Amino acid sequence: RPRVLSGIQPTADSFHLGNYLGALRQWVRMQDTHETFYMVVDLHAITVEQDPKVLRQRTRVSAAQLLALGVDPERSALFVQSQVPEHAQLSWVLECLTGFGEASRMTQFKDKAAKQGSEHASVGLFTYPVLMAADILVYQADAVPVGEDQRQHLELTRNLAQRFNQRFGKTFTVPEPHIPQGTAKIYDLQDPAVKMSKSASSPNGIIELLEDPKRSAKKIRSAVTDTGREIVFDRENKAGVSNLLSIYSALTDRTIADLEAAYAGKGYGDLKKDLAEVLVEWVTPIQQRVQSYLDDVAELDKVLARGSEKARAVSAETLERVFDRVGFLPPA
Ligand code: ATP
Ligand code: MG
Repeated sequence: RPRVLSGIQPTADSFHLGNYLGALRQWVRMQDTHETFYMVVDLHAITVEQDPKVLRQRTRVSAAQLLALGVDPERSALFVQSQVPEHAQLSWVLECLTGFGEASRMTQFKDKAAKQGSEHASVGLFTYPVLMAADILVYQADAVPVGEDQRQHLELTRNLAQRFNQRFGKTFTVPEPHIPQGTAKIYDLQDPAVKMSKSASSPNGIIELLEDPKRSAKKIRSAVTDTGREIVFDRENKAGVSNLLSIYSALTDRTIADLEAAYAGKGYGDLKKDLAEVLVEWVTPIQQRVQSYLDDVAELDKVLARGSEKARAVSAETLERVFDRVGFLPPA
């Protein structure tokens, strides 16, 4: 089985529907076909300022959501990045192989630093892509599911792996991008020209998995649509309706064509009302499961401790080889 690694940041009170339909659903599915390593990336989170109490809470809530959505700690290694020290240790070695100019070309840093004012951007934000390379390479991952925004970082990861292998002898697997089947890009409900996002969407544009389902239902019923009446998928001219159809299709596994046929002659109101119900039925049991994980934090922490043990069984071995190859003394 090919090995896959992916992570998500604990930087919001809740995951949103775009996170689930665009990424996390595939995490769950890949457990059937891959050897899976999934982590909550708190080291990445602190590249921008975090409140310590909030970060700790969000890390647990993130893990609880992953479990509730179907990440199975028996089949996957599910862990928290900071609990596996090899990430940061390998990152240092890779930083020393990364050119300053090379790192400076990472467009995500440029975008994020521009938003914060470059005086305020941390060096950690600058070296973020190198830590991401370490995350991947320390597990010898064959594949990494990546969206468009992470492609450049994966390219850097591949370059660093090849560079290390050339200089010190074959040590790392060079990972391939994995474009998972059946991911949906979800758009903002109030502005369907832009994607649903935790940093950019207005409260009414984003469906949070942990918000009151009644509130989610209301957001769907008041989603922006066009002035026409026909329920057909047409991203160009009917972005709002198309977005609702994508969500509906993803949550029910009904095809878009099937939905178009079912709603022929009906109005936008009918579509929204039904989708609101579908969403509430889907999310309610998920919220109950999240709550039950959070009701027993000691047990949740144990699950994560077992996950990091599984992860370390692989990461420690890679790091030992790396340290040896670069000329460090054996472990003291
Ligand atoms: P930010 O605004 O801070 O970038 P975000 O809402 O884009 O946050 P991320 O934490 O960047 O969320 O993304 C986590 C995962 O969810 C990534 O794999 C990303 O590709 C996916 N994702 C995020 N938003 C969407 C969306 N609207 N549709 C599909 N996938 C999405
Ligand atoms: Mg994003």
